[in-house]
Amino acid sequence: VKCSRCRAPAQVRLPRIKAGFCPDCFKLYVERQAAKAVKQFELIRPGDKVLVAVSGGKDSLGLWDLLLKAGVRADGLYIHLGIGDYSVRSGEKAKNFAAQRQVTLHVVDLPAKDEAVPDLAPFGPRSFCSTCGTIKRHYFNRAAAEGGFTVLATGHNLDDEAGRLLGNVLRWQEGYLAKQAPSLPAEAPGLIRRIKPLIRLDEYEMAAYCFLSGIDYIIEECPHAKGATSIKYKQVLHHIEALMPGTKWNFYAEFQSRRALFAPGPAISSASPDDTDAPPLPDARWRQCSVCGQPSWLEICGFCRLKGRRAGSESPD
Ligand code: SF4
Ligand SMILES: [Zn+2]
Ligand SMILES: [Zn+2]
Repeated sequence: VKCSRCRAPAQVRLPRIKAGFCPDCFKLYVERQAAKAVKQFELIRPGDKVLVAVSGGKDSLGLWDLLLKAGVRADGLYIHLGIGDYSVRSGEKAKNFAAQRQVTLHVVDLPAKDEAVPDLAPFGPRSFCSTCGTIKRHYFNRAAAEGGFTVLATGHNLDDEAGRLLGNVLRWQEGYLAKQAPSLPAEAPGLIRRIKPLIRLDEYEMAAYCFLSGIDYIIEECPHAKGATSIKYKQVLHHIEALMPGTKWNFYAEFQSRRALFAPGPAISSASPDDTDAPPLPDARWRQCSVCGQPSWLEICGFCRLKGRRAGSESPD
């Protein structure tokens, strides 16, 4: 098979776009897809200061690389979650990447603050991962406010987003559907806008891009990701995609053009009030957390309530 662009021998086959590429043309294809997503969904605007949420995996490091190549002077933010060996090694990958490229990586060391996810999770109202999400959200917004960043770029790829879409459709979560966009506006001052520039690229493409670009990333997933429902939706889509290449992107893109049909707001009723980004009541208003000052739906934000519950359990009475 020959490269669809330069006719050299193709090394990467992409059935979903009926193309095959040599390594150089494939990297160009990935760069163009990321740039296209940024343009199509107006992800980065003039004057934006971009922070990349870096986990040490292929998507976030690949994303950081792509932004830097496109001339976006983005800093990285790595949150050391304190999840055993996985956190130690993923942190090393992130630090090595930043050192090689001489770019700035901000590090939040949760174990050093006595806030490691495994230590706080028993005090969370829901799952381990939802506690992890609450803690990460808190530090993303805090880093943004302290560093003057206007936008947080995350490494969610097409498989992540199409899988999530399938899950939301199967349960007809209209409120979540309304909010499943490549760019999520900052809902209150003090919160950061979030963007997903890898939305036109899938998992395989990101892994191949990192491999061909010599990006050293952590291959293993967080041990808590195993068994997550989100992975099952991705597997189902993977089967459909194998039978009908191109379906994944069509499913996602066609939804984006119809997203306005779903109204945001009270439909997010099954969300816990501990989610700082979900209103507990339809008429809830943003206010400031009385402990940390971050925007919150309640008097005290989810992160501070989490810490409060642990402090309560440690006190003698
Ligand atoms: S899978 Fe790991 S990193 Fe992701 S939310 Fe769960 S605990 Fe956090
Ligand atoms: Zn080529
Ligand atoms: Zn707070």
